Amino acid sequence: MGKKCIICGEEATFCIKGTSDYYCQECAEENFADISVLQKVEEEAQRLKEVIKERMKEKQDTDADEENIKEDI
Ligand SMILES: [Zn+2]
Repeated sequence: MGKKCIICGEEATFCIKGTSDYYCQECAEENFADISVLQKVEEEAQRLKEVIKERMKEKQDTDADEENIKEDI
């Protein structure tokens, strides 16, 4: 979503885990023999969403226990 391939500028489908290097499907396949080192942008977004959801849930679960939340941050 809004991420562009760093090679051709097309909308990116993949990113390298832990970096902000983004690639479209084509460039990813051209540049990486093994695209399993790459992460789908969608999956990354989905993962982040899950993390946020977990955080929200944790916050609700431990609402009475403010100390835990502060440690988490
Ligand atoms: Zn590209």
